[in-house]
Amino acid sequence: MSQFDLIVIGGGPGGYVCAFRASQLGLKVALVEKRVTLGGTCLNVGCIPTKALLHSTEQFTFARDHAAAHGIKFDNLAADVPAMMKRKDAVVAKLTGGVAQLAKARKITVFNGTASFGGTGSLPVSSPSHGQATHDTAANPRAGSPCHSIEVAMTDAGGKAIRQTIAAPNIVIATGSLPAELPAVKIDGKHIISSDQAIALDEVPKKLVVIGGGAIGLELGSVWARLGSDVTIVEFLPKIAATADDDIVRNYTRLLQKQGIKIETGAKVTGVKFNGPSGVLVAERAGAPLEFAVDKVLLAVGRRPNTEKLGLEKIGVALDSKGRIQVDSELRTNVPGIRAIGDVVAGPMLAHKAEEDGAAAAEWIAGKYGHINWDFVPAIIYTAPEIATVGLGEDAAKEKNIPVNIGRFNFAANGRALANDAADGYVKIIADAKTDSILGAQILGHGAGELIAEVVAHMEYGGSAEDLARTIHAHPTLGESVKEAALAVSKSAIHAL
Ligand code: FAD
Ligand code: NAD
Repeated sequence: MSQFDLIVIGGGPGGYVCAFRASQLGLKVALVEKRVTLGGTCLNVGCIPTKALLHSTEQFTFARDHAAAHGIKFDNLAADVPAMMKRKDAVVAKLTGGVAQLAKARKITVFNGTASFGGTGSLPVSSPSHGQATHDTAANPRAGSPCHSIEVAMTDAGGKAIRQTIAAPNIVIATGSLPAELPAVKIDGKHIISSDQAIALDEVPKKLVVIGGGAIGLELGSVWARLGSDVTIVEFLPKIAATADDDIVRNYTRLLQKQGIKIETGAKVTGVKFNGPSGVLVAERAGAPLEFAVDKVLLAVGRRPNTEKLGLEKIGVALDSKGRIQVDSELRTNVPGIRAIGDVVAGPMLAHKAEEDGAAAAEWIAGKYGHINWDFVPAIIYTAPEIATVGLGEDAAKEKNIPVNIGRFNFAANGRALANDAADGYVKIIADAKTDSILGAQILGHGAGELIAEVVAHMEYGGSAEDLARTIHAHPTLGESVKEAALAVSKSAIHAL
């Protein structure tokens, strides 16, 4: 039985970052991943492939719809979907290969197999960590702890199923999430698909109905609409992109509709029936029936924590009412020595949040001071335009009766945005009415996801709208709109009234 200081289960952004950080801190680390490649949902079938396809299709729509106005002409313009998929796969392979190389260089033992809990026993005392241990848990993070054993089901070089037992006093569960389903709509991978299939279609579906107007539905709906699919997004709530303020969503909805995407809100899907290659999706709005002809249905109604077949019941790890692993403020489960991070615990299911969980968990295990500010996790929807949000929104401030001052600045008044054909949208800064400290920001526009990082950094350092407004921004940049919105908090924007 091999022994480690730390075993991380799951090689996604939460798990691999945790393993890398722990190795930097001198721990002997094992990383178990059942996929052939590291990188988890995010690198293999999530963040990265979707962004590759969003980029390719944005280039295509630029060439088709906007290039002529720039004096650029094309003959016989066509989208080659298999070539787009090949490029997307190459981007994914480069990144997952890079993570594997880093794991090797950091001397992390990677087990390519499926982990489950075996049991808990006592720990033998001798336990030299590899490398230069700098952690200060009495120089040994294993001392005095019970040892958990993990069974890894793998196949050997000859294809034979084998099992190996490994053990460590510290386990981090980072097994991520899986697509959620509806009682009346189950994924069959052919007609009714999840994002796993929607990033790998070899032809454009004629009629695509997306159930769910969240990040997946909006991003992948955009990809296929740009390639010519007749896309309808059916959302249960009164608005799509539900976590953004009403004004942002109103403008965003209009801009997506201009691109030909149909949006049906307040509609509850009650079933889908296929008869051959096409079918009908049935929904209801305020008791009235709705019907949509479909060739494919993309089910994008959220994701559920993945605790399948982990054997958590054997060791008594507690789950919450939504099936997530219950953790405290240092990501500890109720079982000593076992932590959980990323999508499998409560909080936004975002790669950067999983990464921060992973780094902090490694630091706590190594006796250091992990730090995460879960209130300042930015969230982006990478469509055209993008929506980026962080912290408190204007609507939430109203609901909570928090007095705020709002600064708004339209990209239409920004020189770089006009030069770039990116005049849609605006920046909104939400500041505390008494202290002027920045409580949140929402940005609708091109590059919103990059622009919000500056606001997050100001918030992290307790910055005020005035601090942000007095920060020098290069001209001409889209970032000047962030400065102007911060100036607008005190009604002092220079390039707007
Ligand atoms: P995961 O990345 O899911 O990794 C968990 C890993 O554990 C998997 O590789 C799995 O194979 C492995 N595993 C599970 N069980 C076992 C076991 N028993 N033994 C061994 N291995 C196991 N987030 C963003 O921030 N930005 C985006 O742009 C973005 N786009 C997305 C697009 C799509 C289509 C999807 C589906 C998600 C997207 N996300 C995005 C969300 C992001 O992918 C997740 O929040 C993130 O991957 C969570 O990281 P994680 O490490 O917790 O879990
Ligand atoms: P989501 O929670 O973002 O959106 C799901 C949407 O489906 C919600 O608007 C919800 O109201 C709606 N819905 C739920 N039940 C419905 C029903 N019966 N009929 C119609 N609509 C219904 O989930 P998602 O878009 O599936 O994404 C899953 C996770 O992955 C999210 O946590 C998301 O943050 C993450 N993700 C992030 C990004 C990004 O950061 N850009 C991209 C993709 C996915």
